[in-house]
Amino acid sequence: MYTGGCLCGAVRFEIHGSIHNIVYCHCSQCRKAQGSAFATNGIVSAADFKILSGADALTAYESTPGQTKYFCKTCGSPIMSKTESRPAQIRVRLGTIESDIEERPMAHIFVTSKANWEEITGNLPQYEAYEPNRTAR
Ligand SMILES: [Zn+2]
Ligand SMILES: [Zn+2]
Repeated sequence: MYTGGCLCGAVRFEIHGSIHNIVYCHCSQCRKAQGSAFATNGIVSAADFKILSGADALTAYESTPGQTKYFCKTCGSPIMSKTESRPAQIRVRLGTIESDIEERPMAHIFVTSKANWEEITGNLPQYEAYEPNRTAR
Protein backbone atom coordinates (compact mmCIF):
# COMPACT_ATOMS: atom_id res chain seq x y z
CA MET A 1 0.00 0.00 0.00
CA TYR A 2 1.18 3.49 -0.79
CA THR A 3 0.26 6.70 1.00
CA GLY A 4 0.53 10.29 -0.09
CA GLY A 5 -0.87 13.74 0.23
CA CYS A 6 -0.65 17.39 -0.73
CA LEU A 7 1.86 19.94 0.52
CA CYS A 8 -0.40 21.50 3.16
CA GLY A 9 -1.62 18.13 4.43
CA ALA A 10 -5.33 18.69 3.78
CA VAL A 11 -5.55 15.98 1.13
CA ARG A 12 -4.46 12.45 2.15
CA PHE A 13 -4.81 9.34 0.04
CA GLU A 14 -3.92 5.64 -0.12
CA ILE A 15 -3.26 3.37 -3.09
CA HIS A 16 -4.08 -0.29 -2.48
CA GLY A 17 -2.68 -1.74 -5.68
CA SER A 18 0.12 -1.40 -8.17
CA ILE A 19 1.01 1.61 -10.27
CA HIS A 20 1.50 1.04 -13.97
CA ASN A 21 2.55 3.00 -17.05
CA ILE A 22 4.69 5.41 -15.07
CA VAL A 23 5.90 8.04 -17.51
CA TYR A 24 7.67 11.35 -17.57
CA CYS A 25 5.31 13.60 -19.55
CA HIS A 26 6.95 16.62 -21.18
CA CYS A 27 3.76 18.04 -22.77
CA SER A 28 3.06 21.75 -22.40
CA GLN A 29 0.01 21.14 -20.17
CA CYS A 30 1.94 19.00 -17.70
CA ARG A 31 4.75 21.52 -17.66
CA LYS A 32 2.34 24.30 -16.68
CA ALA A 33 0.39 22.15 -14.24
CA GLN A 34 3.59 21.21 -12.38
CA GLY A 35 5.57 24.40 -12.94
CA SER A 36 8.43 22.19 -14.02
CA ALA A 37 10.07 20.50 -16.99
CA PHE A 38 7.78 17.47 -16.83
CA ALA A 39 5.19 15.59 -14.81
CA THR A 40 5.74 12.08 -13.50
CA ASN A 41 2.41 10.27 -13.75
CA GLY A 42 1.32 6.70 -13.14
CA ILE A 43 -1.95 4.88 -13.65
CA VAL A 44 -3.76 3.22 -10.75
CA SER A 45 -7.09 1.48 -10.67
CA ALA A 46 -9.84 3.83 -9.44
CA ALA A 47 -10.95 1.03 -7.11
CA ASP A 48 -7.47 1.02 -5.52
CA PHE A 49 -7.35 4.77 -4.90
CA LYS A 50 -8.87 5.97 -1.64
CA ILE A 51 -9.07 9.59 -0.46
CA LEU A 52 -8.67 9.49 3.33
CA SER A 53 -9.24 13.17 4.01
CA GLY A 54 -9.56 16.46 2.21
CA ALA A 55 -11.86 15.40 -0.63
CA ASP A 56 -13.50 18.80 -0.23
CA ALA A 57 -10.09 20.50 -0.46
CA LEU A 58 -9.64 19.18 -3.99
CA THR A 59 -10.61 21.43 -6.83
CA ALA A 60 -10.75 20.50 -10.48
CA TYR A 61 -9.81 21.95 -13.83
CA GLU A 62 -10.82 20.41 -17.15
CA SER A 63 -7.58 21.03 -19.03
CA THR A 64 -8.73 19.15 -22.14
CA PRO A 65 -12.35 18.23 -22.90
CA GLY A 66 -12.97 15.01 -20.99
CA GLN A 67 -9.74 15.21 -19.01
CA THR A 68 -9.79 16.81 -15.56
CA LYS A 69 -6.89 17.59 -13.26
CA TYR A 70 -7.48 17.63 -9.49
CA PHE A 71 -5.35 19.72 -7.14
CA CYS A 72 -5.46 21.08 -3.58
CA LYS A 73 -7.20 24.43 -3.52
CA THR A 74 -5.02 25.62 -0.62
CA CYS A 75 -1.49 24.59 -1.57
CA GLY A 76 -1.92 23.75 -5.26
CA SER A 77 -0.38 20.27 -5.11
CA PRO A 78 -1.38 18.37 -8.26
CA ILE A 79 -2.79 15.06 -7.02
CA MET A 80 -4.33 13.28 -9.99
CA SER A 81 -6.22 13.46 -13.24
CA LYS A 82 -9.21 11.55 -14.56
CA THR A 83 -10.28 10.85 -18.11
CA GLU A 84 -14.01 10.62 -18.76
CA SER A 85 -13.62 7.79 -21.26
CA ARG A 86 -11.61 5.71 -18.75
CA PRO A 87 -13.55 5.93 -15.46
CA ALA A 88 -11.83 2.84 -14.04
CA GLN A 89 -8.44 4.52 -13.83
CA ILE A 90 -6.77 7.48 -12.15
CA ARG A 91 -3.51 9.08 -13.17
CA VAL A 92 -1.61 9.97 -10.02
CA ARG A 93 1.18 12.56 -9.80
CA LEU A 94 3.96 10.46 -8.34
CA GLY A 95 5.62 13.32 -6.47
CA THR A 96 2.69 13.40 -4.05
CA ILE A 97 3.30 9.78 -2.96
CA GLU A 98 5.34 9.59 0.24
CA SER A 99 6.02 5.84 0.30
CA ASP A 100 8.91 4.25 -1.55
CA ILE A 101 7.37 2.69 -4.62
CA GLU A 102 8.37 -0.56 -6.30
CA GLU A 103 7.45 0.30 -9.86
CA ARG A 104 9.73 2.32 -12.10
CA PRO A 105 9.17 4.84 -14.91
CA MET A 106 8.99 3.22 -18.35
CA ALA A 107 9.28 6.10 -20.80
CA HIS A 108 9.43 9.77 -21.63
CA ILE A 109 6.35 10.94 -23.56
CA PHE A 110 5.49 14.02 -25.64
CA VAL A 111 9.22 14.66 -25.91
CA THR A 112 8.74 16.95 -28.92
CA SER A 113 6.94 19.38 -26.56
CA LYS A 114 9.79 19.53 -24.07
CA ALA A 115 11.18 22.85 -22.89
CA ASN A 116 14.14 23.99 -24.97
CA TRP A 117 16.24 24.25 -21.80
CA GLU A 118 15.61 20.66 -20.79
CA GLU A 119 18.00 17.87 -21.69
CA ILE A 120 16.49 14.38 -21.43
CA THR A 121 19.11 11.89 -20.26
CA GLY A 122 19.09 8.18 -19.48
CA ASN A 123 18.12 5.11 -21.48
CA LEU A 124 14.32 5.07 -21.23
CA PRO A 125 12.45 5.09 -24.55
CA GLN A 126 11.24 8.47 -25.77
CA TYR A 127 7.94 8.90 -27.61
CA GLU A 128 6.45 11.82 -29.54
CA ALA A 129 2.99 11.16 -28.02
CA TYR A 130 1.62 8.63 -25.51
CA GLU A 131 3.59 5.45 -24.86
CA PRO A 132 2.52 2.68 -27.30
CA ASN A 133 0.63 0.46 -24.84
CA ARG A 134 -1.42 3.23 -23.23
CA THR A 135 -4.69 2.31 -24.93
CA ALA A 136 -4.35 -1.34 -23.90
CA ARG A 137 -4.87 -0.50 -20.23
ZN1 LIG B 1 -2.89 21.10 0.19
ZN1 LIG C 1 1.42 15.69 -20.16
